[in-house]
Amino acid sequence: MATDDLDDGELWPVPPAWLMACDQCTRLYQWMVEAREAVAEADLTTASTVDSDPFDSGLSAQLALGQHMAREHAELLPDFEPACPRCMACRENLERPAMSEGAAVWAGTAAAEHRARHLIVPPVMTVRL
Ligand SMILES: [Zn+2]
Ligand SMILES: [Zn+2]
Repeated sequence: MATDDLDDGELWPVPPAWLMACDQCTRLYQWMVEAREAVAEADLTTASTVDSDPFDSGLSAQLALGQHMAREHAELLPDFEPACPRCMACRENLERPAMSEGAAVWAGTAAAEHRARHLIVPPVMTVRL
């Protein structure tokens, strides 16, 4: 694929230095990249109507990394992005009085995991999850 076909919104971000300094992050990041490359490879060799990632291995790797980052590196995650509808939805959830302590914890975790995604996946993908 020619790089100039790519929109800025589709570019994979360069991971921050602190991510590469953490063994667990590096391992999960590596897994995510490998899953992504395997899918890209399959896309090239199969008809475009075939889902080359039926098990969403790329997505599970991203989610595992996001969960780890939210749990271990919450203070290093970027702030909510005003231009991102998903960030704004997360912030609203946090600002709304929670129904229960469990719901408050859930909103906090979901928000942190989403903010982590801004560091590891292209902008087009942060909108969806
Ligand atoms: Zn880590
Ligand atoms: Zn966002």
